[in-house]
Amino acid sequence: MPIRQLPEVLINRIAAGEVVERPASVVKELVENAIDAGASRIVVTTAAGGKSLLRIEDDGHGMDRADLLLSVERHATSKLAGDDLDDIRSLGFRGEALASIGSVAELTISSRTADAENGLRIEVRNGVRSGPVPQALNRGTIVEVKNLFANVPARLKFLKTDRGESGAITDVLKRLAMANPSVHFVLNGSDRSASNWPAVTGTGALQARLAQVIGDDFAQNAVTLAHSRHGVVVAGMAGLPTYTRANGLSQFYFVNGRSVRDKVLVGAVRAAYGDYVFRDRFPVVALYIAIDPAEVDVNVHPAKAELRFRDGGAVRSAVIRAIGEGLAAAGFRASSSVAD
Ligand code: ADP
Ligand code: MG
Repeated sequence: MPIRQLPEVLINRIAAGEVVERPASVVKELVENAIDAGASRIVVTTAAGGKSLLRIEDDGHGMDRADLLLSVERHATSKLAGDDLDDIRSLGFRGEALASIGSVAELTISSRTADAENGLRIEVRNGVRSGPVPQALNRGTIVEVKNLFANVPARLKFLKTDRGESGAITDVLKRLAMANPSVHFVLNGSDRSASNWPAVTGTGALQARLAQVIGDDFAQNAVTLAHSRHGVVVAGMAGLPTYTRANGLSQFYFVNGRSVRDKVLVGAVRAAYGDYVFRDRFPVVALYIAIDPAEVDVNVHPAKAELRFRDGGAVRSAVIRAIGEGLAAAGFRASSSVAD
């Protein structure tokens, strides 16, 4: 067969596979967009584990006509002012999510800016856009995604049951709620009992949000972290060594507002607890690292769930010290390996 240049619709559908793995990844992308838009309240509605319907409504700054039209194009983003991939301060920057979603689902976006007379709505079907048409709306954006992967049967087959997929959605939302304590998150769904995490603000907001999401018992059995060293700021809460779980699922890591998986952080937590926790037990932690964006590469993974620290050693020792100090204040004296 001769080489042929693939049509745009197909290119987008292939690219979509990298960004959109399952309903929960759509939720992540859309909620991150809402957060980037400065939303203070985000309402997520799902049906059939997000397979038949996902709806994300925000009260952020919205999009005007020109931006709304561009938003569903590939590689179109408002979040990279220059060409510097080393200085990313928003959650998004690739400009791929909406284009990808539009090629594997029925996508409808309604949006209104503060000074617009009315809202506007566009639709994408099979990668083809129509609209905008006027739509009554408050300031903000509503993104509706229907029948995800209906045109990619191979992908659809690999999704879990509705219950499994809605579990993954809840998990994603938990992390987003933990990363953004001053945003009010509502999860409506026919699948599962709804969650509601009211906005918490002011001093202690983070603790209050962690109590909402992880549970009051965690908040009552944890120490607050506050440590800064060599440009690495560590905050959050670390459970007491007497409050552990049988797996690492209750260890939450955030770097510059983004939920991440990272071996350096997991290893540092393990080292910080040292001999206080048995090998087969896992402390519960919600660890927040703030660091110069130039010191992290978030561009390693399409879903941006993994990252690379330029100086992993500095991060490791800051985490070990932060937890060591916190536990010492609660009467758990750091062993010599912890003091390092
Ligand atoms: P990225 O987030 O990487 O820029 P997306 O495809 O997710 O790419 O979104 C494309 C653009 O559409 C964004 O850069 C932003 O300007 C706009 N946009 C998307 N969602 C929203 C929203 N909820 N509110 C306001 N603008 C949005
Ligand atoms: Mg985005």
